Amino acid sequence: MSRYTDAKCRLCRREGAKLYLKGIRCEGEKCAFTRRQQAPGQHGTSRRRLSNFGVQLREKQKAKRIYGLLEKQFRSYVTKAMKTKGVTGEEVMRQLELRLDNMVYRSGFAMSRAQARQYVRRGFFTINTKICDIPSARLRAGDILKPVDFEKTSPREGFTLPDWLSANLAEKSIKVERLPLSEDMPADFNVQMIVEFYSR
Ligand code: SF4
Repeated sequence: MSRYTDAKCRLCRREGAKLYLKGIRCEGEKCAFTRRQQAPGQHGTSRRRLSNFGVQLREKQKAKRIYGLLEKQFRSYVTKAMKTKGVTGEEVMRQLELRLDNMVYRSGFAMSRAQARQYVRRGFFTINTKICDIPSARLRAGDILKPVDFEKTSPREGFTLPDWLSANLAEKSIKVERLPLSEDMPADFNVQMIVEFYSR
């Protein structure tokens, strides 16, 4: 699976928001978006007023970039969610949140989703005692996520575990207690607009 390998900070400047793609750097003074908020490129200073389509497009791009996905894979999540019986937006978010790379990040084992993805690719994590090196693998309620070597991937300081996950300190593992609900979802972008974008 291909992935975006160009400068990440450009993406934050393009979206006009901090997307937290670079771990600890995003919190400090070196954050490129904190220093320069204009969009990248020659015409970056002149942000135009967006049409409804433009707003939907930007929300979709933002979500894709936060989760580190390319168009084909992101679209497949939305298409799959549209075929389920539940609320489409909620299902899209659930699929994104339950990806293994995102779970490693949410569990505090990595500073960013990109780092989490690398850890997964190197086989640093198990799902229910089996090593899984597929970043897009989907966890289910009741699954247990555990690092193979806790010393290498100890949790980052000051992170908060979402309500739908629980930590077993003795086992040094994380359990998916239940599927995330709409109130558990991060409010980094408007998922309804994304669904509208793909429903055109
Ligand atoms: Fe975005 Fe700032 Fe992090 Fe760069 S350092 S990825 S601009 S939040």
